[in-house]
Amino acid sequence: MSDQLDLDLDNFTHPAVSKLNGAMWFHELNDGCFPGQSFGLKIDKILHHEKSEFQDILIFQSSTFGNVLVLNGIIQCTEKDEFSYQELITHVPIMSHPYPKRVLVIGGGDCGVVRELVKHLGKGVDDITMVEIDKKVIELSVKYLPEMAKFHDHPRVKIEIADGFQFLQNLSGLDESHKFDVIITDSSDPEGPAEEFFQVNYFNLLKDAVKQDGIVIMQSSENIWLNLTYLSSLKEKAAQVFSNVEYCQCYMPSYTSGQLGLIVATMDTSKNLTRPLRTLSRDTEGKMFKYYSAAVHEAAFVLPTWADRALRETS
Ligand code: SAM
Repeated sequence: MSDQLDLDLDNFTHPAVSKLNGAMWFHELNDGCFPGQSFGLKIDKILHHEKSEFQDILIFQSSTFGNVLVLNGIIQCTEKDEFSYQELITHVPIMSHPYPKRVLVIGGGDCGVVRELVKHLGKGVDDITMVEIDKKVIELSVKYLPEMAKFHDHPRVKIEIADGFQFLQNLSGLDESHKFDVIITDSSDPEGPAEEFFQVNYFNLLKDAVKQDGIVIMQSSENIWLNLTYLSSLKEKAAQVFSNVEYCQCYMPSYTSGQLGLIVATMDTSKNLTRPLRTLSRDTEGKMFKYYSAAVHEAAFVLPTWADRALRETS
């Protein structure tokens, strides 16, 4: 494990870090996920690097995106644009649900989703549980991403250190009153400890743990420019289990190709997930959110024609 103070920068090596024109750069190099392209950020300072029990964790201070968390070589969040993803993945299901009392977050180690959920405490949300496999990610986020992790110790937030897949397996057979109203899967990408989240089995576990009229949402790990075929197959997997499945996307410059898609689903066919069920005044929206609004909610589901056709043909 290396922290800023004991890092020997001259001898620091990491597969995603290289020297270019005398400066240090991070490049998201992953031929499986991003063939032939790589998003890069100039590094001002390496803050931390270690291999935890579950993954390679790198945190650096970038010259233009603030502090950046990287797991297994893939950017998880940057201080500059994290609010875009965290707000959309949280407020789309919460504002589409009439009474989102019990909420479960799977993954979410940077605690950005928890920060967004706390905004709804006493206004519908009562109970927040987060299940993160790697306590190191939480500890390091508290240290290096303090604005994101500021509610990690909020008295109304329960944090369990466990594998999210196993956690859901252990819940099997819950009676309806103990099930969740909303489940948010804020996981890392399919390579590594989050691999099982992108399979039909996982959607089955989600269906067992969410109430009949509940809503689930997960990051899709891809966007329409990078791999539309993969997105169609992920949506298809969700549609094998849930009867009402939609796809929405957020603008996120630090995710490769500048966007990230989310799969949102419910068993309730009367719900229109593409529109918020509850809305706030423009003034309240401005106070509560930086990215989300009722208009952004609806717009997030509007896709360019070719992508819309490809994804609608799926389910
Ligand atoms: N917003 C990010 C993105 O879209 O790339 C994800 C952020 S969050 C840091 C992802 C978290 O999922 C990580 O902290 C990782 O440790 C956690 N995670 C991965 N696999 C998991 C598992 N099986 N159970 C629980 N948490 C898991």
